[in-house]
Order: sequence, then structure tokens, then C-alpha cells
Amino acid sequence: MRHRIAVVGSGPAGLTFARVLNRHDCPVTILERDPAPDARPPGGALDLHEGLGQLALDKAGLLAEFQALSRPEGQAMRILDTDGTVLRDWQPHPDDRANPEIDRGQLRDLLLGPLDVRWGQGVTQVVPGTGDGVAVHFADGHQETFDLVVGADGAWSRVRPAVSSVTPHYTGITAVETSLDDVDTRHPDLARMIGDGSLAVYGVNRALVAQRNSGGHVKVYAQFRAPLDWHTDLDPADVEALRSSLLALFDGWSAPVLDLLRHGTDFAHRPLHVLPVSHTWTHVLGVTLLGDAAHLMPPLGVGANLAMLEGAELAEALAADPADPDEAVRAFEERMWARAGRWAEFTMAGLERLVSPDPAQALALFDRLQPS
Ligand SMILES: Cc1cc2nc3c(=O)[nH]c(=O)nc-3n(C[C@H](O)[C@H](O)[C@H](O)COP(=O)(O)OP(=O)(O)OC[C@H]3O[C@@H](n4cnc5c(N)ncnc54)[C@H](O)[C@@H]3O)c2cc1C
Repeated sequence: MRHRIAVVGSGPAGLTFARVLNRHDCPVTILERDPAPDARPPGGALDLHEGLGQLALDKAGLLAEFQALSRPEGQAMRILDTDGTVLRDWQPHPDDRANPEIDRGQLRDLLLGPLDVRWGQGVTQVVPGTGDGVAVHFADGHQETFDLVVGADGAWSRVRPAVSSVTPHYTGITAVETSLDDVDTRHPDLARMIGDGSLAVYGVNRALVAQRNSGGHVKVYAQFRAPLDWHTDLDPADVEALRSSLLALFDGWSAPVLDLLRHGTDFAHRPLHVLPVSHTWTHVLGVTLLGDAAHLMPPLGVGANLAMLEGAELAEALAADPADPDEAVRAFEERMWARAGRWAEFTMAGLERLVSPDPAQALALFDRLQPS
């Protein structure tokens, strides 16, 4: 008998899970709250690591297509002092494919391929143990039942309460995201300063990071320690007021670095929340979690990678043991918890060093991870 499997969320975790199941001819229902694939701006580019995100794409049979789309030169990393002095300028070797960058929209489309997503299907609640299986309640009031519901619905998961009462907490660090378009033509000096990959500037308790995406698009992240309500006096629609308050926060930094904020458009406020390191739960028949829903951690370049690998591994485990999906899920959870716990610890410690009272900590971390 075929099991009725649903995945909630069509982010990197949910789509990779569905794509690998699809490759093994196992049907899956994909439930996504967004009304369409491009309903929201997709966010900044992702670097996919050889042993994590790229391994997941290999399991999905998509590695060659990823290699054709991704940008190995995007691995370049330049670090400036707040006065504009270049402190590090790391360039990848031409054949380095360890962590190439891909735009999120490109990755989504690659994973979507032939998948049939049910768009506009916001899930409000998941109730296991109903007799006939796991009940999924939708925002429009209807209800459906499945044998296995996989929560890949991100940081504020509606599936998570079915297995765990834990909720994300604020790290004390906020990011404000802005963008520059057509940077090579409109801001050639900034384009040269950023280079082919990313640029980071670390100051006392604050950092500015600029990341090149494809098509001359650049994402800029201002990160700083602040109370969660630091911006409540600001009108979210008043872009100039937000820009001025950010420029005041980074006062004294070199003019070209601050131009990243001066020319930015569309500011988005992203307070950094995390789940506790080593978040686990007592196994619940018919429900599990993947990706940020299971282990939201600071954005230090692994969240999507782990989400994808978990999606691929759970799908493979279910395809390999169709007679006993519950045993496959149990074994998968043990493996996910152990690996995610190690990364959560590493990224929490990393965030403390990147937005630190002592900017030398950030440089030391870079030198440890990327020795030249
Ligand atoms: C600024 C920033 C930079 C980052 N850079 C990197 C990087 O370079 N490399 C990296 O590996 N990671 C990076 N990350 C982390 C990465 O974005 C996440 O870890 C990753 O997106 C998690 O994937 P996911 O599929 O678990 O969740 P998500 O990407 O959050 O996807 C969840 C999906 O579920 C849907 N959904 C939510 N609620 C419901 C509901 N109730 N019903 C139905 N659908 C729902 C959402 O619409 C969404 O499509 C970064 C994060 C940030 C914030």
C-alpha cells in the first residue's frame, strides 16, 4: 500500500525532499502557503557546499544542472577595515567548486522542475493520532489526512507544535537587508569594491556584508546588536528615515562603505532568531521536521545546505524502506539531530564573533576557516 505523504513548505528542504521522492517514483503532496513561486522576493544567493547542498542535489540527479548555473567566482571574499583598508582579499582557484553561489530563485526553479506544488495552501495546524492518520488543517478551513506529514515550513513552523513546544528566540542581533541593482553600470566603484563574491566590514558590535548575486544585483546586510524593538519609532514605509538611522549606527565608517547603505533600496528588517542548540523531541508517529523548522540557526551559510541534505536523506530512507516508514523517520531524526546540533553550536559561536565587541574576532574566524 502506498503511504500518503505530505510536505508542508516548498523551500530548499521541502522541494529537495519532494524531488528525491519523485526520483524514486514515490508520490508526495507539496503544500505551500505562498500563492505562486515568485510571490515574494527570493532573498540573497546561497553558497552550496560540496558535502551538504551539492550532495543533496546529486541525490536529486541535479548536480550537473547546478554546476552549469552556479557561480564559483562568487566564493571570493574581501574584508575591509571600517576605514576602507583591505585586510583580506581571498580569491578561489579557477577549478574550486567547494562552495559556489546560486541565486535562490534559480535553485527553486531547478528543484521545482516537474513537481506539482499546491500553491496558496497555508497550513494552520497538524494533529497526529486521529485514528485515520495525521490531520492537516488549512487556513481556508478545510482538513485532509495523511500517513506522514513532514514540516519543512521554516522558522515559524505550524507543524512544529505537533512534536515540540519550543519556539525561536531572538539572538540580540538584527540584520537589515537592502539591495543594489545593476551595480556594474550604476555604481561601478561599489562593484569594484565588492569584487566577484562577497565583501565584509566588521566594526564594534556591527558588520556590513555585501553579496553579489547574478545579473549585477547585490544584497547588502547591515548587522548590529540591538533590542528587538529598536525600530518601533520608525515608520516602516519611510525608507529615508530607516536609511538615516542606519547611517547613524555606522557613523565614522569610510564613505565608500557607507555608500552601500546610501544607494540601497527596499530595506527589510530581519531580526535573527534561533531555536535552542540541539533541539530534539520525543518521536511522534506520522510527523517530522526538516530544515529551519527543526533547527533554525544563525545565517552563516549552512541552513539551506542542511535543509536540502535532510530532505534528500529522509526521502531516500522512505524510498528504501517503504514497508516501515516510521522506522525510517526515527533513524533519520537521530542522524539529523546529531549533525544539526554540531552546526548550531558552530554557527552560534560564529555569530558572536562576527558581530562582536572585538572586530579582530571576526578576522580570526575568517583566517581559521579560509587560510590563504
Ligand atoms: C540573510 C540570510 C542569508 C542566508 N544565507 C545562507 C547561505 O548562504 N547558505 C545557506 O545554506 N543558508 C543560508 N541562510 C539560511 C537559509 O535561508 C535557511 O536555512 C533555509 O532557507 C531553510 O530552508 P527551509 O526549506 O527549511 O525553510 P524556508 O526556506 O523558510 O522555506 C519554508 C517554506 O515554507 C512555507 N511555509 C511557511 N509556513 C507555511 C505554512 N503554514 N503552510 C504552508 N507553507 C508554509 C514558506 O512560504 C516557505 O516556502 C541564510 C538565511 C538568511 C536569513
